Amino acid sequence: MKIEDVRKALWDDVTHVLIDMDGTLLDKYFDDYFWSRLVPEKYAGKNGISFDGARDLLFSKYRQHERTLNWTDIDFWSGELGLDIPALKEQIKHLIDVHPYVEEFLSLLKEHNKKVIMATNAHYKTVALKMKKTRIGHYFDRIVTSVDMGCPKEHIPFWERAEKVAGFNRDKTMFIDDTEEVLQTAKRFGIRYIVFKSLASSKEPPGNSNSFVNIKRFKELFPSTDGHSKAGKPAS
Ligand SMILES: [Mg+2]
Repeated sequence: MKIEDVRKALWDDVTHVLIDMDGTLLDKYFDDYFWSRLVPEKYAGKNGISFDGARDLLFSKYRQHERTLNWTDIDFWSGELGLDIPALKEQIKHLIDVHPYVEEFLSLLKEHNKKVIMATNAHYKTVALKMKKTRIGHYFDRIVTSVDMGCPKEHIPFWERAEKVAGFNRDKTMFIDDTEEVLQTAKRFGIRYIVFKSLASSKEPPGNSNSFVNIKRFKELFPSTDGHSKAGKPAS
């Protein structure tokens, strides 16, 4: 599927738009900084070990819990690491930021009467902190989290339950995420329109998906007025 086809489908055919939070709507730099700088720093200080030592140890702990509910559960990490994770997040909340064109995109979706659903693996406490800081929560008809669905987006049951609670039709639904594995699961489940958000962090080069339409910025999905994108050429 080409970007033109996806853009046309979005405004003509799609009724529900599911969007990931971290990396897709919000700059992933916050999360990268948090888990690979701040937490190792605090862990090293608390345990009297070096920063590098703490980081190696933490990265192996993170890996053990990838693709599980623990991974996203900040209360789990508070217990596991002996650190107050919500308080630490609060400490650097000034780094939480929306990507360019996000608000315009969300507002266009509402103008066009689309149902807008956030689909995130993030813990509801993290979602609450981020919505408070960014003030974009009011655009969403619903927020579905991995904790509520009982498993992360990498697993099919997430989608089966999300479909029930959000009431979307797979054939008229678009899903946008910055994690290829999650998109693959959504595709297997049968979501018709799938978009890879390649620019997740403002401090990292964009990723690339060979399987799905790639966008760096939401501007690339803005509606056409005369057969061409209103936004002109895709942002580089
Ligand atoms: Mg993400």
